[in-house]
Parts: sequence; C-alpha cells; structure tokens
Amino acid sequence: MKNREKCRGNRIKAMLVLALAGCLLLGGCGNSDVGTAKAAAARETTGPDGVRLSDDSSDFVLLSEAVPDAILEIRYYSTYNFVGDRIDGYEEPLALLTEEAAEALREVSDELVEKGYRLKIYDAYRPQEAVTHFVEWSRDLDDTRMKEYFYPDLDKDVLFDEGYIARHSGHSRGSTVDLTLFDMETEKEVDMGGTFDYFGEESHPDYSGITEEQYENRMILREAMVNHGFKPLATEWWHFTLKNEPYPDTYFTFPVNSDSAHDNK
Ligand SMILES: [Zn+2]
Repeated sequence: MKNREKCRGNRIKAMLVLALAGCLLLGGCGNSDVGTAKAAAARETTGPDGVRLSDDSSDFVLLSEAVPDAILEIRYYSTYNFVGDRIDGYEEPLALLTEEAAEALREVSDELVEKGYRLKIYDAYRPQEAVTHFVEWSRDLDDTRMKEYFYPDLDKDVLFDEGYIARHSGHSRGSTVDLTLFDMETEKEVDMGGTFDYFGEESHPDYSGITEEQYENRMILREAMVNHGFKPLATEWWHFTLKNEPYPDTYFTFPVNSDSAHDNK
C-alpha cells in the first residue's frame, strides 16, 4: 500500500516536472507558481556580511486580519521606544507575519481568549532597515533621550557588545513576535513585572526579583505560545519565534505597510 502511494506520488511529481518544463519552454505560464518563483529569486540579494536579503512579501499577512482578536500597539511606529523616534521602515502602525506564524498565533489567541485574555502585539515582522536604524542609533552615544525608561542601569556604549542591539534580528525573518497579555475583565495589560524592551536582567522570564503572580503571568503567555509551536527566549519574556519558521535564513527588507500584505496585492 505504502509503495503504491509512493509510486503515485512519484508519478505526480514527474508530471509536475514536465508541466514546469513546458512552462519554461513556452516562455512562462502567466501568473503560475513558476512566475512567482522566478520573481522571488530576482528579489533576493546578498548583504555585505553574506546574509540573504529579500524584498518578497508574498507570504506575509496582516495580523489584524489573521488574528482579529489581537490588539496592536506597534512601538516602533510610535516614538515610545528606546530610540525615541519612529523607526525606519515602519510606515503604518501594522503587524505583518508569515502565514505560518500568523496561523499559529491565531491558535494561541483562540486558546487565551477562552481564559479571558487578548494578545497585545508590540512588534512582529521588522524590516532590516529598522534594525540598521537601531545600530546607527547605538553608535550615537550622546543620544540617551530614552535611557530612564528602557536602559537606566546600562551605559549606552555596552548595548551593542552585550547583544541588546545587533546587525540582524530574528524579527526580520518574519516569524517572530513581541507580545503581552491584555486582561479582558480588568481591561488592562496583565502585570508581567517589567516592560517591553527593558534592557536588563528584569526581562529574563525567570528573573527572581518579580512576584509569584508576575511570574505566573509570564508563564501563562509562555505556555500558550509553546503549545502552538513557538519557542521562547531566555532574556526577553515578550519575545517568541515559530520553531519551524519558513524562512530561517532570509532577512526581509520590505517596509511595514498594508501594501506588503499578501491579501492586498
Ligand atoms: Zn523581539
């Protein structure tokens, strides 16, 4: 039985290869997958440090559509972030994710809504341009406007060396999200014992200086995310990446705006 299925699978594969070859010989098949694949290849480049960059947003969706219960508070579109300015590449206060990550997040949301929580999203896909903005900001040691809110105990000159700022971010691969919980009964954010993007030990999910309740709250978020295929980060309670992310080696460059979402093309 298994062999017959395999055989059938191989026949289908062979037919697909033939169809594909036919398309290429005839000069393309309009809007077929072949055309899309060729376009994707053309939109890929290699960065100066050897990283694969792509501006192909065809697999990305808007979180407001994929996870309608989520609340968006896109901090890098606002000026309330560690830089103090709107970050390059954030053209609209939107969140984009790969279809796979958005689907998994929808499952997380459905599970938590039943427990009385909504997801509150701080950031999702982050263009490479935004990450480059962070790096440039980290080199300007005189600009410490937001120090008291985000890095009061650190000197700005250690942020890059200690890994708080890096040349590339997993967020640019499109399957990473920063989020917290919103309690539907109190209509407030859940107390996590720390704020998003705080640079310090307090942000480690297992930080010992928080109350038991704050720790439990962090674990409610973490368990729901892990249940649906996300992996946590040991240094930031709000940050999760889809374990089977579809683009583990590609850093995307298109801006955060509604035109970049797949349904709007
Ligand atoms: Zn993050």
